[in-house]
Amino acid sequence: MSPATADVLVVGGGVLGLAVARELRSRRGDASVLLLEKEPEIGRHQSGRNSGVLHAGFYYATDSLKAELTREGNRRLTEFCRRRDLPINECGKLVVARDESEQEGLDELARRGRENGVELEMVTEEEAREIEPRVRTAGRALWSPATATVDPEAVVRELARDAERAGVEIRTGVAYRGATGGAGAGSVEVRTDAGRVSAGHLVNCAGLYADRVARDFGYSRRYRILPFKGLYLHSDEPAGSYRTNIYPVPRIDRPFLGVHFTVGVGGRARIGPTATPAFWREHYRGLANFDAGELWDVLRREAGHFVRNDFGFRTLAAEELAKHRRSKMVELASDLARGVETDHFRRWGEPGVRAQLVDVEERELVMDFLLQGDADSTHVLNAVSPGFTCALPFAEVVADRIEEEQGRT
Ligand SMILES: Cc1cc2nc3c(=O)[nH]c(=O)nc-3n(C[C@H](O)[C@H](O)[C@H](O)COP(=O)(O)OP(=O)(O)OC[C@H]3O[C@@H](n4cnc5c(N)ncnc54)[C@H](O)[C@@H]3O)c2cc1C
Repeated sequence: MSPATADVLVVGGGVLGLAVARELRSRRGDASVLLLEKEPEIGRHQSGRNSGVLHAGFYYATDSLKAELTREGNRRLTEFCRRRDLPINECGKLVVARDESEQEGLDELARRGRENGVELEMVTEEEAREIEPRVRTAGRALWSPATATVDPEAVVRELARDAERAGVEIRTGVAYRGATGGAGAGSVEVRTDAGRVSAGHLVNCAGLYADRVARDFGYSRRYRILPFKGLYLHSDEPAGSYRTNIYPVPRIDRPFLGVHFTVGVGGRARIGPTATPAFWREHYRGLANFDAGELWDVLRREAGHFVRNDFGFRTLAAEELAKHRRSKMVELASDLARGVETDHFRRWGEPGVRAQLVDVEERELVMDFLLQGDADSTHVLNAVSPGFTCALPFAEVVADRIEEEQGRT
């Protein structure tokens, strides 16, 4: 049987796959764009299991793709939610200093924010308390008015509707299974649950499996995804008990932001997420999605990082595992706000797993988004936080890159 064909094949129906498919189809109305998602529904992994924060863009080193895309991504998704009447809580965020020694960290964030063109204000402790009466901070805090929270699943559903309206064919419950290697120049051919598909270009937005798909095309050779699980604890205090998101000064050498408060679209708070090493890629709860091959591969790599203490992995693992105790999470959160009681935080929420990339040659966590590819395929690697915030401009960067690569041939 001859393979099905498409001009562009997108693998992965998370926020990035959907945004890229929609962007490509809106640029070239004559091109057929097919998106494959292995799950029965779109947005089941990182895109539907995150904190839903539209970050403002002041954490990231100025020369990074994260810095380039976050401010614009925040603006565009905020507009998208307002125009489409999707839930959004434009409640801002305070970054607080837990003691005097963290003042320097606040200054560094303020500097990055200035360089990245992000609106920020350094406020006094009193001013911080006017914004959030329960906040704790040592002397000063950084106020970000542009930070907001959204309902990530609602955003993903709306993007999928948009993509379909634009003419993208979305097929759920169909997994990409590997490249056949049988394609001629200027095309790729792959195996899927629904037979072979031949395409002029493949875009890999496979999230937790993006490194594996990339290796089928000769990319991601020195990179592997190390899954880190994020657990949340929900507050049972009424909506409005916290007015704004409250974050600690993060460690600049880690891509994780530390335990923080987020106030969701309904006005209720939660604390988290952890960044605990997971044992397989979709390791959410118990043995769900268990894969023995992955367990072996991930554990072997984690054991190596642990023994060598690559990128401080031993310390990180110990700190993060401790947060599985409710009392520990609450203790860390109470450094940021007053009246935080263990009794208010009884319910663990749906966890998410981050597709964090490790450079296995340098033995380092990759801090920025990474794009690899050529005229036949493009691979979106390390689409970790703030990948959700960045989805709309990120899709344009991917589409520009495809046009450039194809223009060269
Ligand atoms: C705990 C946590 C908190 C976060 N908080 C934030 C936040 O507050 N703000 C923010 O901006 N970002 C946040 N992020 C990051 C954000 O969620 C991601 O950057 C973003 O969702 C990545 O989107 P994606 O489309 O690349 O990946 P995903 O949403 O993981 O989508 C990949 C899709 O590919 C599919 N797939 C995989 N393999 C195959 C295959 N072989 N065939 C077909 N389909 C396949 C998967 O089923 C999946 O649906 C957070 C992430 C986590 C985990």
